[in-house]
Amino acid sequence: MAVPFRRTSKTAKRKRRTHFKLQVPGMIECPRCGEMKMAHRVCPSCGYYKNKVVVNK
Ligand SMILES: [Zn+2]
Repeated sequence: MAVPFRRTSKTAKRKRRTHFKLQVPGMIECPRCGEMKMAHRVCPSCGYYKNKVVVNK
């Protein structure tokens, strides 16, 4: 099995990790109530999707 020839420097490691995001992707703010919800899903707090109420709450 291949083994790294050099130790990865602190800078290289940190540069690579700049792409790591804190939040889970696909979480967006609901345009109607402002709650965090999953993208492309009906909002769990107001039942709203694509400019209309889909599920009554
Ligand atoms: Zn909502």
